[in-house]
Amino acid sequence: MRRTITHIGDHALSPSSLMMSYGFDPKLSEGAIKCPVFQSSTFVFESAASGKSVMQLAYGLRERGVAEDPGLIYSRINNPALEILEDRLALWDSAERALVFASGMAAISTTILSMARPGDAIVYTAPVYGGTDFLFEKLLPQFGIRCYPVSGDLSAASMQASVEAARAGLGTNGRLAAIYAETPANPTNRLIDLAMLADLARGMEAQPGGRPRLVVDNTMLGPLWQKPLAHGADIAIYSLTKYVGGHSDLIAGSCVGSDADLAAISGFRTILGTMTDPHTAWLLMRSLETLSLRMRQSEASAWKVAEALRHHPKVEQVGFLGFVDPDSEQGRIYARQCTGAGSTFSVILCGGEAEAFRFLDSLKLIKLAVSLGGTESLASYPAGMTHVDVAPEMQKAYGIADNLVRLSIGVEEPEDLIADCLQALDQV
Ligand SMILES: *Cc1c(COP(=O)(O)O)cnc(C)c1O
Repeated sequence: MRRTITHIGDHALSPSSLMMSYGFDPKLSEGAIKCPVFQSSTFVFESAASGKSVMQLAYGLRERGVAEDPGLIYSRINNPALEILEDRLALWDSAERALVFASGMAAISTTILSMARPGDAIVYTAPVYGGTDFLFEKLLPQFGIRCYPVSGDLSAASMQASVEAARAGLGTNGRLAAIYAETPANPTNRLIDLAMLADLARGMEAQPGGRPRLVVDNTMLGPLWQKPLAHGADIAIYSLTKYVGGHSDLIAGSCVGSDADLAAISGFRTILGTMTDPHTAWLLMRSLETLSLRMRQSEASAWKVAEALRHHPKVEQVGFLGFVDPDSEQGRIYARQCTGAGSTFSVILCGGEAEAFRFLDSLKLIKLAVSLGGTESLASYPAGMTHVDVAPEMQKAYGIADNLVRLSIGVEEPEDLIADCLQALDQV
């Protein structure tokens, strides 16, 4: 890692202040204030001996020396732009290390493939993102990895029972490889107690190969409003396509965690080739400079829009995290685990699909598209779009109703967004 300023005296600088400089030494790039795009597939070795030495290190044939820089080889293995981006991403979660990927799904699939073997099982909280659902339900079973969704009651007792049921179905060499959670769940915004899941995972230390890893998809609130590692998660995963990229102009993903956990994932990434590219990494570094500004602005606007819709006669309910009852179990998890409500929420309209479609088709400023977390506000219809592949009875069980629309609030003037929603509701 390149050493740059992180403290002024005893005062620790915050990630938002470090995003403009951390990990980049201008002296190594002609004094450039910004990290250049290292658009290079390969890197020149200083000598044949040093080439051999860095390749041995890359393949794990020898231990890394104290303070030894791993050395650049080839951009599927490492690239300066990716490394600096990873150093910066790790700061937001106070993680030892981060890895960047070609997409959120590349991060999720590479992480899970590095952990689970044929005969193993995964328990996951449902619903999860549509692509993750497909991976767990349709792809991993083809490799003999059984994935068990848990929905409805997500209390400690119920999770314990689900984990025991999954373990009871394991063969002699099978293990529970991971507990996977997405919180808040997309699109229902249901929160899951991460400290409780971490306890559950710790209770299985005695299984061969050690306890299952707790893997958390933190795309919806992170990295500003929720820090899973601080609540006992081993690995937090992001679709950087959403809030971190933040401009709806790139696809990327990441995971953060300990050096030990990420070393295995990094090895899989190198061979599967699921890393991101230098240009996308450069765009992400630009995005990180305004991450905190954008997320705080859109959260403040989301409060206003959600409030304006909450008591509208054509709205049944607004599933905004800021509105959870502080005396409920969800309210207690929110208080413990989240520092903000985020800016993606569901609006449950009176009626069904026809009413939802009239609302969506009448929006003028808010664009009708899947995805979230960009500077522009988006509206979508989970039951027929992101979660269209989830079987109807499962949609019902998960609360993905036919009158539910999802809004992602961007950085437009909130009064303009409210005016747009109100005129669209008039058309319903
Ligand atoms: C979008 C999304 C993903 C997948 O990310 P991609 O970058 O599209 O591959 C995973 N999880 C959640 C919660 C998402 O919103």
